Amino acid sequence: MTLDWNNLGFDYIKTPFRYISMWKDGQWDDGKLTEDNVLHLHEGSAALHYGQQCFEGLKAYRCKDGSINLFRVDENAKRMNRSAKRLLMAEVPEEKFIQAVEEVVKANEAFVPPYGSGGTLYIRPLLIGVGQGIGVHPAPEYLFTVFCMPVGAYFKGGLVPTNFIVSDYDRAAPQGTGAIKVGGNYAASLLPGEEAKERSFSDCIYLDPATHTKIEEVGSANFFGITKDDRFVTPLSPSILPSITKYSLLYLAEHNLGLEAAEEDVYLDSLDQYKEAGACGTAAVISPIGGIQTQDEFHVFYSETEVGPVTQKLYDELTGIQFGDLPDPADWIRNITV
Ligand SMILES: *Cc1c(COP(=O)(O)O)cnc(C)c1O
Repeated sequence: MTLDWNNLGFDYIKTPFRYISMWKDGQWDDGKLTEDNVLHLHEGSAALHYGQQCFEGLKAYRCKDGSINLFRVDENAKRMNRSAKRLLMAEVPEEKFIQAVEEVVKANEAFVPPYGSGGTLYIRPLLIGVGQGIGVHPAPEYLFTVFCMPVGAYFKGGLVPTNFIVSDYDRAAPQGTGAIKVGGNYAASLLPGEEAKERSFSDCIYLDPATHTKIEEVGSANFFGITKDDRFVTPLSPSILPSITKYSLLYLAEHNLGLEAAEEDVYLDSLDQYKEAGACGTAAVISPIGGIQTQDEFHVFYSETEVGPVTQKLYDELTGIQFGDLPDPADWIRNITV
């Protein structure tokens, strides 16, 4: 292995094994590991034409003792099935999902970055509608695959705030597919994201699609703020993707930091109630938000250059649990000995 563990980015790296299983005639096959990283699909596959696909993202963490932690993998399994239900896809039994993830991690164990490097093994479960078709209806067959690759710590020299811009576009409709993890939401977010980056912002912040007065989320991460009276607040909306990181932070804010924690409306015209803000998700864990550009002002939270103390504490608590350095508070960890 000639990987530079301390300088990994977030790029595709081919690892030796991935898991593949097919659903046909009403049932899943046993599934197997394969070395082939290319899928062979029918040209009429519903995933290609009508976006009948969903995915998940989670990480495996190398602990100090060499064992490997999975973090809340059962929540990823449940969420993928909520996505599958909404898109009329075959669901993957929770045990099958977890077993597939474990098999892939074990088979690619040499690619789980060492403890202390900040790197992790990023795992991507994917469920797609395949098989012959062309009319608009659910696919006759489904392919479930899980592959993985080592990725680096998002922030190498400690948490650094970045700036975001409020988007004029919507990523999801009020009763649409915003709450499920599907590629279509991401396709719709590519242009707004690109325009934000062209203006030197990290990404855009989407508002609630019905009134455009409240913050929803960042498009691949959820939003949270710490109010000046020390409450952890994160938006509540049916068109936000329910981030597992977000729900973990809600729990930790309340139980480990002793803050009041709530899901409620975050109005764009009341940002000065918050002393800190961040974006959270599996990939970056927490991205501190320095400032937000709205239509009429640039609002700075804690600082444009330094992370706030509550955000830092939440990050330390969560990553401490993920890497096995802090006690597992609520059956979040599945430890794999290799
Ligand atoms: C996956 C995702 C997140 C983050 O969810 P986690 O479970 O914390 O990784 C946030 N927003 C969107 C749109 C997502 O797809």
